[in-house]
Amino acid sequence: MTLRRLLGGLVAVLVLGAFTAAVASAVRSSIDGEDTPPVLAGPTGPAVGALPVAPRVAAPPILAAPVPAARRVRPKKPPVVRVPAPVRPSRALGRPNRGRLADGVLFPAEGSDVTTWDAVLQATPNRDWRRVGTDRLVRTILTVAADYRRAHPGAPRVVVSDLSLPQGGRFGPEYGGLGHASHQNGLDVDIAYPRRDRREIGIGRVGEINRPLAQALVDAFVAAGAEFVFVGPRTGLRGPSNVQALENHDGHMHVRLPNVR
Ligand SMILES: [Zn+2]
Repeated sequence: MTLRRLLGGLVAVLVLGAFTAAVASAVRSSIDGEDTPPVLAGPTGPAVGALPVAPRVAAPPILAAPVPAARRVRPKKPPVVRVPAPVRPSRALGRPNRGRLADGVLFPAEGSDVTTWDAVLQATPNRDWRRVGTDRLVRTILTVAADYRRAHPGAPRVVVSDLSLPQGGRFGPEYGGLGHASHQNGLDVDIAYPRRDRREIGIGRVGEINRPLAQALVDAFVAAGAEFVFVGPRTGLRGPSNVQALENHDGHMHVRLPNVR
């Protein structure tokens, strides 16, 4: 057999194969392409027999028109804020009512579980120079807020107010409002009680407090190792001996961490 005849035979086989496939494809498409069921046996002709039924292939999805990049990347929820590890651990110097703060960390303006409230301007977020604390205080607030929100789905974010000034020190009425006797070495934070109307702003009167959620938040800070939690005498909030009633705290709780190194 010459090479030419061999190639001729090969081409014939390929053509026949292609023809057979085309016929099978035509039969299948006549079955699957229409809504009406196929007629398998003609009224006059012999029964065709069961044709192999190809699996129905879903129509390719209609591709949505491309969305502009700016709309596609915009997150619906505020991003989760992670506190970068400080170069050096913060140092709380002296005492809360007479002290300083070294290597403090800025508390985020807001995050997935927290927002901040400027009690002087009655605005959100709180000004950044009012929210600096030790890295441990910042991390503790964020951890407690995340755990609390996981335990209470649907609770509004934790509304965080003043921590300390960037270098700590006196934080009196010269900075607005009543000022703070303590909040001097990065271990104190004021936190507005959760509101019954779920708004993420400060409290004006005790009737606005969501008492069960506020108690849960007090309990969470106690469990996280707070040295003291001061609460307003008219809030009805309670706890172990380090949860103490203090005037001017009916709108917010004051959490103080112990000074451990
Ligand atoms: Zn305070």
